[in-house]
Amino acid sequence: MGTERTDALRARNDQCIINTYGTRNLALTRGEGVRVWDADGKEYLDFFAGIAVCNLGHAHPTVTEAIREQAGKLLHVSNLYYIEPQIQLAEMLCANCFADRWFFCNSGAEANEAAIKLARRYWAQKGTPKPGIVTARESFHGRTLAAITATGQPKYHEGFAPMVPGFTYVPYNDVAALEAAVTPETGAVLLEPIQGEGGVRVPHASYLKQVRALCDAKKILLILDEVQTGLGRTGTLFAHQDYGMTPDIMTLAKGLGNGVPIGAMGCTEEAASGFGPGSHAATFGGNPLSCAAAVATLEAILAPNFIESAAAVGEYFVDGLKDLAKDNDDIVEVRGKGLMIGVEFKETVMPLVGKLIASGVICGPAGPNVLRFVPPLIITNDQVDRVLSILAACLRETAR
Ligand SMILES: *Cc1c(COP(=O)(O)O)cnc(C)c1O
Repeated sequence: MGTERTDALRARNDQCIINTYGTRNLALTRGEGVRVWDADGKEYLDFFAGIAVCNLGHAHPTVTEAIREQAGKLLHVSNLYYIEPQIQLAEMLCANCFADRWFFCNSGAEANEAAIKLARRYWAQKGTPKPGIVTARESFHGRTLAAITATGQPKYHEGFAPMVPGFTYVPYNDVAALEAAVTPETGAVLLEPIQGEGGVRVPHASYLKQVRALCDAKKILLILDEVQTGLGRTGTLFAHQDYGMTPDIMTLAKGLGNGVPIGAMGCTEEAASGFGPGSHAATFGGNPLSCAAAVATLEAILAPNFIESAAAVGEYFVDGLKDLAKDNDDIVEVRGKGLMIGVEFKETVMPLVGKLIASGVICGPAGPNVLRFVPPLIITNDQVDRVLSILAACLRETAR
C-alpha cells in the first residue's frame, strides 16, 4: 500500500520521528465532516475519528470559528490569572453532570494523573492516608508512569519498572472480585464505564451501581475514566449517566475539544477539598484556546437531539453488524453502546483493518481481536450502509 506522496512522507518520518508508532500506511491531510482525504488525494469515510476524538467530525464550522476567534484574541496566559473560557467551560460541565469543580490539563493520561493525585491527597488531608488504588484488568488509562501503572495490562508495563506503588488489579465487571480486593489501605477505585482499548467491553447493567454502593460502604472514592466514553459517545453525555449512579471524580479528554488537546478532571465539592493552592498545576491546562474550542464543542454536542440521533445511528450500525455476523463464523460477538462499537473476531483484526482502509474506510483495533468503530457522532444511516457493504466485501475476500 502507499503511493508517491505517502511514501515520501514515510521516508522523511522514518528519519526524524522516534519509532513509537510503527509503520503506517496513511497520511491524512484534510477533512470535512465524516470524510477525510490523504496526501495522494484519495477520499475515505472516517469511522475512527482520530481515536474517538473528533465527535463532531472534521472542520466543524462553529468549532473552527471559535478557534479562529480565540486565536486572534488571546492564546495563552497561564493559570496565574483568571481565564474566562476556562470558567465558562467549567460552568457548562457543572450544569450537565454531577461534578461541582474542575481542573483542566492537556490529555487523558494527565487527567487520570490528576485524579490519582487528588484521591491520595484527599485521604492524606483527612489524616487517614489510604494510598491504595484498585483498577481493572484489560483497562487503559494512558501513558504517564502512574497511568500505565493504573492500566491493568502487563504489556504496557514492560521495561518501565519500577511501577508506581499502591495499585492492585481485579477482573472487570466482577463486583465480588472488587470487594475481595479492597483493604483498609484502599482509597480509590478507578474504572472505565465501558472499557475501550481493552476491547470495547460493556459491563452488566448494575455493575457500576454496585461498585458505587461498595465504595460508599467502604468509604472509597470512585473515579470514572470517561476519557473515551464521554461527550456523547455512548448515547448520553457521559456514559455513567445511563447507569443510575455518579462517581466522586471523573476524567475527560478525547472528545472534549473535538481535536484540540484538552483534558479535564471533574469532582464533587467534597473530593475537591483534597487539593488546595499549590497542590497541583499545569502550565497549559485550561488555556484560552483549548477551552474556547471545548465550549464550542460542548455547545454542539448539547444541541437538542444531537446525542439521541447519534445513539439511534449507533443502534442501526450494531443491527447491521449483527446481521453480518450471522453469515460469518469468524465473528465472535458484536458489542458496544451508542457509537462505541466493537466486533470481536476469532483472529487478529489488523489485516482486516488494512483492507478496510485500502477500501476507503478508516477504523482501528481495540486489542488484537476486536475491530473498533468510534466514528464522528454525525454519521448518517447511509454512511453506515456504505461501511457495512465495504466490510462485507472485505470479509468475503478474507474468506476466499
Ligand atoms: C485514550 C485514553 C486515555 C489516554 O488519553 P491520552 O490523551 O492519550 O493521554 C485514558 N483513558 C482512556 C479510557 C482512554 O481511552
